[in-house]
This record gives sequence, structure tokens and C-alpha cells, in this order.
Amino acid sequence: MFTSLIPKFSVKSVFELTPELLKKHGISLVLTDLDNTLSPYSGQEPTDQLIKWKNELFSSSIDIFIVSNTKTERAERFSSLWGVPYIDGAKKPSPDALTRAIRSMNKTVRETLLVGDQIFTDVWGANRAGILSVIVEPLKPNILHTLRYIAELPLRSFARKFE
Ligand SMILES: [Mg+2]
Repeated sequence: MFTSLIPKFSVKSVFELTPELLKKHGISLVLTDLDNTLSPYSGQEPTDQLIKWKNELFSSSIDIFIVSNTKTERAERFSSLWGVPYIDGAKKPSPDALTRAIRSMNKTVRETLLVGDQIFTDVWGANRAGILSVIVEPLKPNILHTLRYIAELPLRSFARKFE
């Protein structure tokens, strides 16, 4: 179980996932967490920087898919504004929703990566699904998120730089 909690790669933010690096790793589908990965919990709309990043990936034929554990309407609203498909109530670390997302995009496990801010949901789920796991720094952590982040640091330290 220990190894399945170690992220393969670590980045500061999703913006380090450039089309060039993704292609180098053979990735054509980016599954992404929503809360504290793309947007703080309080954020309602995709930022200009996120729109630009999405357009760059799309121009390089790399797809994006939001897989969120949220049960609110946030994922639906955010995804439709951003123009990407989504699954909410995903129950990560269960790999089921990740596998469903990959199938619905007609991709394979090998060409898929998941990026998220939490070890025990995002990384564990990605590793169980057999896809590359990338951990980001949480965007706007509250006190609980910060404590969790500190507890996760030893596991985060094993991750390699995405390059
Ligand atoms: Mg999150």
C-alpha cells in the first residue's frame, strides 16, 4: 500500500504540464481534480490562465477531463464554463471513475495522467488505476488542508520532477 501512495511526479501547479512535456511522456489525456488543483474551493469560474492552458493542450490534441469528488453543482458549472467533460461524486481513491473517464475518451491507461492536490484521493486513485500520478501544491489551503499537506510531505518528497 505504501508505494501506491507515492506520486510519480510533483509540480507546483497544473501550468507546469506543458504540451511539450506531456507529449514527451506519451500523454494525450489529462484527468484533473477540481478543488484546490484547478480552482480554490471559493473559486467559481476558470481563470484566464486556465483557459489559456486548456487551449494550448487542445491545440496539441491533448484532452482534459475533470474527475472530482465534490457532490455539489460546482463541478458541472466549472466544467461547462471551461468547456471540458467531467465526472463528479467520483469517490477517489476508487479507480472506477478514472477508468470510466478514460474509456469515455477512447484512451488507454498508458496515455493518461491524473493531476491532483491530495495523496489519499488523487494519487492513490491514479496509482490504483495504473495511470501516472502528479501531485500539485494545493491552491488555497485552509488550516485543515495545511495540516494534511504537512502530513503528506514525506510521501510528496519521493515524487520526481516532471521534466
Ligand atoms: Mg482537491
